Amino acid sequence: MEFETEYLQILKKLENIEVKNYQKTRNYLDGEVSFLSPYITHGVLPLKFVADFVIRKFGLKGPGNAEHFIFQLGWHEYFQKIWLDIGDKVLSPVKNPQKSVESLLIGKNLLEAKTGINVIDDSILNLYKNGYMHNHARMWTASIICNLHKTGFKAPADWLFYHLLDGDIASNYLSWQWVAGTFSSKKYLCNQENLNKYSKCKQFNTPIDKSYEEIAEMVDDPNYCLDLGQRVELELPVYIPDLPKLNLDLTGLKVSLFSIWTLDPNFAVDDESQKILLIEPGFLTKFKMSEKRINFILNLAKNIPGIEILVMDYDQFDLEFALKCTQVSAKFHPACSHWTNVDFTEADYIFPDINPPFRSYFDFWNKAKKYLEKEYAKTK
Ligand SMILES: Cc1cc2nc3c(=O)[nH]c(=O)nc-3n(C[C@H](O)[C@H](O)[C@H](O)COP(=O)(O)OP(=O)(O)OC[C@H]3O[C@@H](n4cnc5c(N)ncnc54)[C@H](O)[C@@H]3O)c2cc1C
Repeated sequence: MEFETEYLQILKKLENIEVKNYQKTRNYLDGEVSFLSPYITHGVLPLKFVADFVIRKFGLKGPGNAEHFIFQLGWHEYFQKIWLDIGDKVLSPVKNPQKSVESLLIGKNLLEAKTGINVIDDSILNLYKNGYMHNHARMWTASIICNLHKTGFKAPADWLFYHLLDGDIASNYLSWQWVAGTFSSKKYLCNQENLNKYSKCKQFNTPIDKSYEEIAEMVDDPNYCLDLGQRVELELPVYIPDLPKLNLDLTGLKVSLFSIWTLDPNFAVDDESQKILLIEPGFLTKFKMSEKRINFILNLAKNIPGIEILVMDYDQFDLEFALKCTQVSAKFHPACSHWTNVDFTEADYIFPDINPPFRSYFDFWNKAKKYLEKEYAKTK
């Protein structure tokens, strides 16, 4: 599985999307999922763009409709809006403390894809190779690490974020919290039978080849901890692209500023502005990303004609460039909240008027559904 970076190919991927069997099959590792997440995360395919396309193609209601797909897509927007609302608090327990944590360090066997649970090991190897892990595999992996290996969610969430091409601060950290029970009313549990069913594998006699009642007892038993080898400090090298220094003079120019989260080739496409992608070392030091991910981002940026790439924090850009430009405009993303002196265009949300606080995803979705029905009333 390879993730294309050329815009026309990405659009083709969207055009070829099928949702008829999505709800029925999405939990299976070979189910009908879209693989659009790296493009959605990086803003190449804005949420509203994807939703509009899918609803126009399949209709909101009726057999094989788009509603369940939009229900899942909505999670991305929901998480983004919570992040915007609570900021860095997404990195620590949001609702409840994480119970029964034995350590903040991760077992070496997990990092080396040697847990002995084949589906998990294969999913980790695939993550290292392709930068992708199926949603169900993410849930299983997170549950095994947090709830049975009894590890604080932050380090493993950093690890997954580092390797994913779709790593999104809000979706990643809040999903880990959802599994670990710190952003939900209870921990998410899984067993070997569930893994076997949805991966179509047949593995038995693993430490998780138990009933759900037994798994729940293991989770609650303070003396139980799944052995995943020696616990080690997570060592993720910071990767900051080393690009040639640009001799840019932006005096008197109109600039369209892109972040790594807003790489939409259609943004400001018809104006004469100088397009600049700002890659902020401060961000990449705090939220480390693999070299593969950074190269993926640099390739996605090539879809924006005439774009120049600056590797500097916003403060420096502001001092050196922003004040000399006639205007700096950008599409908003929660990760760019610190960009001052910028005229923001609103993010392309599907549900622009639905904002926190939300009691739960269903609270968000109930409002979102009504909005959808009104907004897309005329689609078949
Ligand atoms: C522990 C954990 C960590 C995760 N980390 C991320 C992350 O860093 N970035 C990320 O985009 N998703 C994350 N997810 C959510 C989900 O796993 C991925 O969005 C999904 O697997 C992407 O594959 P797809 O595009 O084929 O999904 P599809 O099933 O085709 O869904 C279409 C789109 O809807 C959105 N979506 C679907 N399900 C979810 C969900 N549960 N949460 C948020 N958005 C969703 C995504 O944008 C996705 O591309 C995480 C889930 C878990 C359990």
